[in-house]
Amino acid sequence: MTTLKRVDVHVEGIVQGVGFRPFVCSLAGRLGLSGRVRNDVNGVHIEIEGARTGVEEFLTALERDAPALSEIERVTVVSGEPAGHRGFTIATADPGALRTAAALADLAPCDDCLRELADPASRRHRYPFTGCANCGPRLGITRARPRKRPHTTMAPFAMCADCAREHDDPDSRRFGDPATCCPACGPALKLRDARGTELCGDPVTCAAALLRTGRVIAVKGPGGYHLACAAACEPAVAALRGRKHRAEQPFTVMAAGLAQARRCCEIDDTAAALLTGPARPVVLLPRRPGAPVAPSVAPGHRILGIALPATPLHHLLLAELGEPLALTGGDVAGEPIAYEDADALTRLSGIADAFLTHDRAICTRADDTVLRPLAGEITVLRRGRGHAPDPIALRRPAPRAVLACGATIDSTFCLLDGRRAHLSQRLGHLDDHDTLRAFASAVGHYCDLLGIRPEIVAHDAHPGHLATRHALQLTAAGHVAVQHHHAHVAACLADNGDLGPVIGVVLDGIGHGPDGTIWGGEFLRADLTGYQRLAHLAQVPMPGGPAAARRPLRMAAAYLGDHPCDPGLRDRLAGALQQAGTGRETPLTSSAGHLFDALAALLGLRDTITYEGQAAAELEQHADPAETAAYPAALTTGEGPLVVETADLVRAAADDLAAGTATAAIAGRFHNGLAAAVTRTCVALRQATGLTAVALTGALFQNALLLDRTLQRLRAAGFRVLRHVRVPPGDGGLSLGQAAVAAARDHPVAPA
Ligand SMILES: [Zn+2]
Ligand SMILES: [Zn+2]
Repeated sequence: MTTLKRVDVHVEGIVQGVGFRPFVCSLAGRLGLSGRVRNDVNGVHIEIEGARTGVEEFLTALERDAPALSEIERVTVVSGEPAGHRGFTIATADPGALRTAAALADLAPCDDCLRELADPASRRHRYPFTGCANCGPRLGITRARPRKRPHTTMAPFAMCADCAREHDDPDSRRFGDPATCCPACGPALKLRDARGTELCGDPVTCAAALLRTGRVIAVKGPGGYHLACAAACEPAVAALRGRKHRAEQPFTVMAAGLAQARRCCEIDDTAAALLTGPARPVVLLPRRPGAPVAPSVAPGHRILGIALPATPLHHLLLAELGEPLALTGGDVAGEPIAYEDADALTRLSGIADAFLTHDRAICTRADDTVLRPLAGEITVLRRGRGHAPDPIALRRPAPRAVLACGATIDSTFCLLDGRRAHLSQRLGHLDDHDTLRAFASAVGHYCDLLGIRPEIVAHDAHPGHLATRHALQLTAAGHVAVQHHHAHVAACLADNGDLGPVIGVVLDGIGHGPDGTIWGGEFLRADLTGYQRLAHLAQVPMPGGPAAARRPLRMAAAYLGDHPCDPGLRDRLAGALQQAGTGRETPLTSSAGHLFDALAALLGLRDTITYEGQAAAELEQHADPAETAAYPAALTTGEGPLVVETADLVRAAADDLAAGTATAAIAGRFHNGLAAAVTRTCVALRQATGLTAVALTGALFQNALLLDRTLQRLRAAGFRVLRHVRVPPGDGGLSLGQAAVAAARDHPVAPA
């Protein structure tokens, strides 16, 4: 008879979200062992039992064969009596434990706290700062480690006797929670008018009444102020747009719960799980016909950004209002969002009719996280509250800690320590000194919070960027310049735990090329240490200089050249070129973003651009997804890199337009044509290099149609394709790529 053995194994380190539990499950199955595995506070807990030799083999293989992305720091084994498990299962995580495991990202209120909030008998009934050790703000209120009251913005509030008792009671779910408070001792909610005068009455009830009459309210959220109005009220939404000087960027819709959200968007089980999860992201989902949402919320879009309440305050406000809210960041025309009360009152008083605010300070600003289902995977498009600063595990550890300073647009930074890459929340467009100050202070906050002292500083290769200039001023053991598009490929490699080399396909807005031209449609042979430009989209002049980025008709004229067009179009193009003037600098660009701009202008979707990536987003929304035809584009071979003749795509579109083809069909054929051109180029590069893996990266791969068509064609051609999931494909992910490159160069790793 075989001896039965049972052990409890606790594994600490990077073991969550890296495929550890399925690995344990299949290992146990292979060895004929039974038991279960689950995530808990500090890692993974395994109960395993069976034949003694099997259990011993299990313990050896656990460390030897662990998934590539995991990093085991400590294994504790305790023997016990066999419990008679049948088979091996993955148990659901202890929910409370799981939430504390993500130690520093802000978490939505837990069910226990929501029950208290709604319970008239509770002393926290309708108290908007209700929270516990399993939920509530973290990044937004914690200044430094360890996470104790004096290190948080709760420090000025002295706990009452009741709260102190809960805080010190190991059996209370508020045990050790530094944010423990109640109406008797904690922060208080206030409603103020545009001049800052406190309005009387219950703040939530009065705010809801104002929203019902079409007013705009600035609401203090976990990472800063939002501007809110009733989502169904077109005059209110239009007024908010007008006052914010954000002509067309889509707003988010916040619903009270899933039922209300389902009236706005198509929500499948995956999306529902994300929406109701503790990170409370904004999820971009197909808009439902008849959604109770004003046209101005997301003009020209078939998708809506939808979210559920992220704090007790949002729960109270939405419940009181009884209809969805339209939300946008509390900023004017793309500045950093306001998070300090006095600053909010100054900057937003021309926009908001009232302020729903309180006296608990926010110590760093964080926008909402934005996710989108893209080609079968939920992809992070913008990292923010609920995700930052939790680490992304890299495949290889950095020899020395790295700070990477990111790019100008959608700037983020990354602190890399060992294998843990802490990618920051988006910090806005780094093009003025206010944003730079905000950036520098967020870096300082992360260093304090995470206890990381970076020795290496990585930055974009463009010397003119504010982020680069800031990086070069920092004292460090080394500064590493990383080319923009190489950083994109590196970010995609890091996202996938890959080391390369790959064919990196970067379809992006603009970035500085080492040859002095503007890059943005690049095919690079790249690994983490270096790259080589193998092919690119054809370069075209930008008539009138960089201003062409805001005037897409100029780009259409540049692509079409002397191609015969119908007279109406010819006149529009001539007018655009005349406006651009002559003799001014016309830099060359291979930007894929400008290619999309040109097509959107050609189809009459837009003549001016009000936000980055607008034309590409709208062209995707406009395209007929059922269209299967594809415009051809020639591939030119010569001395240097291969060239994809993208003007062919634009000219074919102009011909179809003249022939009266529907613009939705033209947009579809354009997407398909670009996907086909990318695939043909990769096939040619595979022949030349032997590389069989492709990494798709750059802001244009936020476009679901382009990503989907490109993935399908590349896979059909036999490529292994890496795409972004955890990290934004656009510039928001760039700092992770810079950090990975700097670490690889600090201790060069031979390609796998
Ligand atoms: Zn709670
Ligand atoms: Zn209290």
